[in-house]
Amino acid sequence: MNSETKGNSPLPYTGFHLQPINGQWRPGKATKVLRDTNPYNGEVLAEIQQASRDDMEEAHSGATRAYPGWAALLPGERAGVMRRAAQVMEGRREEIVSWLIKEAGSTRIKANLEWEAVHAVMLEATTLPYLVEGRILPSDVPGKESRMYRKPVGVVGVISPWNWPMQLSARSIAPALAVGNAVVVKPASDTPVTGGLLLAKIFEEAGLPPGVLSVTVGAGSEIGDAFVTHPVSRVISFTGSTPVGRSIARLAAEGPLLKRLELELGGNGPFVVLEDADLDRATEAAVFGKFLHQGQTCMSINRFIIDDSIYDSFLERFAERVRELKFGNPEESDTMIGPIINQSQLNGLRQRIQEAVSSGAKQVVGGEAQGLVLPPHVFAGVTNQMSVARTESFGPIAPFLRASNEQEALNIANDTDLGLAAAVFTSDVERGLRFALELETGMAHVNDQPVNDLPYSPFGGEKNSGIGRFNGSWAVSAFTTDRWVSVQHKPRQYVFNANVWAGPGAGG
Ligand code: NAD
Repeated sequence: MNSETKGNSPLPYTGFHLQPINGQWRPGKATKVLRDTNPYNGEVLAEIQQASRDDMEEAHSGATRAYPGWAALLPGERAGVMRRAAQVMEGRREEIVSWLIKEAGSTRIKANLEWEAVHAVMLEATTLPYLVEGRILPSDVPGKESRMYRKPVGVVGVISPWNWPMQLSARSIAPALAVGNAVVVKPASDTPVTGGLLLAKIFEEAGLPPGVLSVTVGAGSEIGDAFVTHPVSRVISFTGSTPVGRSIARLAAEGPLLKRLELELGGNGPFVVLEDADLDRATEAAVFGKFLHQGQTCMSINRFIIDDSIYDSFLERFAERVRELKFGNPEESDTMIGPIINQSQLNGLRQRIQEAVSSGAKQVVGGEAQGLVLPPHVFAGVTNQMSVARTESFGPIAPFLRASNEQEALNIANDTDLGLAAAVFTSDVERGLRFALELETGMAHVNDQPVNDLPYSPFGGEKNSGIGRFNGSWAVSAFTTDRWVSVQHKPRQYVFNANVWAGPGAGG
């Protein structure tokens, strides 16, 4: 490690106006400057001259050159870099948490959770180099040896969103690197530091060789298409909205070379409370699963589907609890709701609130935004046809829907084209499990909130919520590829006339 220290603490990283491209920290070559700001107080955190298409070319060609040396290292050497990255994170915990608060508008609670999640990803990545295994396959041809090698794909392109920027970049970058790939990352424009530059500093300090990880900062609308279609990357790992994910899928199919896609997209999470549920437990889980990070999580609860017989009493408890939530300055340790990431997201949320009211929903809790901080909103009398239920809010808005029984609750929960995460509350665990298995989501939780806090769990969605699953062995299969190689050890007699076909093993 080569970090400078002050006392026992390392000096904070600097130089976030530069990008690591092809092994060198330097300004991008585009004329546009990205102003990275704190969404709570407007402070300018960094001014970054953006990456141009030339920079992207350089990042990809650098990755191609750096990849073979990195892939050739021993598994233990790559694991060592991952382990040191986890240690670097430990020494810089407050610095990292502070960046997550000031750049991504994370509350202190969420920023600490995100640090934990990224740290867990780094530790898990120490195991991945040892999971890349080949196989000897059976062969029906005498003297033929049939082998399957597992190799890194080469270069992986990672595109990440702004909401859990460090985690959603790290969960692709760390496993892709660990199994021997080079990576080029395009973080979201709202979070260039926590979505990419900070991770690059951590990996550099951990000893990752230059050029193996490049970060290109630029708007998706400007460099996105060229990034996705670049012939060098063999896999694009994209986390973001469903419309952008769909357009990336089309682009990846049309580019000069076909490539694999890992897509983690939007959600419309149902939170179902059946008539026999423990309402106190359900209330606490509901508040956390809805309002953590202001509801800006793909797994956040988007619809509360409540059995008719307990609807009023649950709504009352929930609303009472929500009114107590502290919103405002994300630095304060008991703030639950911090700022929305930017003005355009806030405008979209205001529009949703107006639509909910004009379509007949009853506002139970609400309030005016102060700056970018939108107080929590609760709506009763929502139907699954209203836009506030049909589409993802990505904000602190909680719509309540009524279900007359369990079957209707299930029908409503599944009546969406998205299928990421869900939760069901019941005092009968077997009933909850049966219900969970009928939910058309990649992840479902019985008697717990849906915002996944199990770092090693298989993460991913069904339907328009994505293709692929993260963690462990999935990451190995996502970022490596099979190469079948056979060796014929003794001369073989080939059959050139079907009349003399002798079956498998002919010619022995
Ligand atoms: P977004 O789709 O607008 O942007 C995501 C990333 O894609 C950003 O880096 C953006 O710059 C880039 N991008 C935009 N247009 C592009 C293009 N044409 N080509 C290439 N890249 C392009 O999403 P967002 O607003 O940053 O994030 C919120 C969305 O992400 C929500 O829908 C949320 O549910 C989803 N999300 C999903 C998961 C998951 O794991 N399933 C996790 C977090 C967020």
